[in-house]
Amino acid sequence: MSFFEAADPVFSTYVLGNAPLKQLATGFDWVEGPVWFGDANCLLFSDIPNNRIMRWSPDTGISIYREPANFTNGHTRDLQGRLISCEHGTRRVTRTEHDGTITVVADSYQGKRLNSPNDVVVKSDGSIWFSDPHYGIMTNYEGHKSEQELPCQVYRVDPETYEMKAVVTDLDCPNGLAFSKDERTLYVADTGKIFDENANRLIRSYDVDNQTVSGGKDFHTVSAGCADGFRLDENGNIWTSAGDGVHCISPEGKFLGKILVPETVSNICFGGRAKHQLFITATTSLYAIKLNRSGVQKP
Ligand code: MG
Repeated sequence: MSFFEAADPVFSTYVLGNAPLKQLATGFDWVEGPVWFGDANCLLFSDIPNNRIMRWSPDTGISIYREPANFTNGHTRDLQGRLISCEHGTRRVTRTEHDGTITVVADSYQGKRLNSPNDVVVKSDGSIWFSDPHYGIMTNYEGHKSEQELPCQVYRVDPETYEMKAVVTDLDCPNGLAFSKDERTLYVADTGKIFDENANRLIRSYDVDNQTVSGGKDFHTVSAGCADGFRLDENGNIWTSAGDGVHCISPEGKFLGKILVPETVSNICFGGRAKHQLFITATTSLYAIKLNRSGVQKP
């Protein structure tokens, strides 16, 4: 059985005909936020409704990393390799220090509480960029139902002063985000307001000049579901979640092909020995597949 559909011949060189799509673990409710720890040879990801962070290792399989976990969603690592987490339950972004203590990176803006930080990336200057849609406070499923105090925006947090700035303010509900390899472009998905059938479902691209974001144009709309989370490979292609699997989009915004996954995909990350293994969080399961491409996220 083929797990791939190529829309452009180049996609057939990105995938490996004899590499299986493997279900590594299942039985969760809604998994999100995969992040690879090569130094520990493991992947962490959130099982949001069950309020826990899971750990998967090729050596020991699946285990619980943290429970309760304040309904974490997206994760990444900073330049020192520390875990950065978006927490719905406490409406904040945190950093797990090397000794295990937790430092609050961001929890309010202009005196108002954040909504429910969703996804996060770290730029090469150490700044932390995260999206803050309202999904985690609109119901009790992925956090605590509570009042929205701020519009749904993307923020930049200064690595020295922790000063925050709203950098993307023109989306309904910003969700997944990632920088291009040269960090001159920021991609942000808009997955639209909850329960809105006609919600925006596209990736937008913005020009980045150091700390400043400008422009903003429609980059790509996935043909099924929405681009909840995505990462870039070494060629600048975007590998994004979609309703029927993982879609690969060229730097020009062209759909190149897809990996078919039997459950709705929420997010992905690259990991493994050569960052050539694509880890896929999809509804109740964690999947992985090895590609002929490597990811570029740091560290
Ligand atoms: Mg997300």
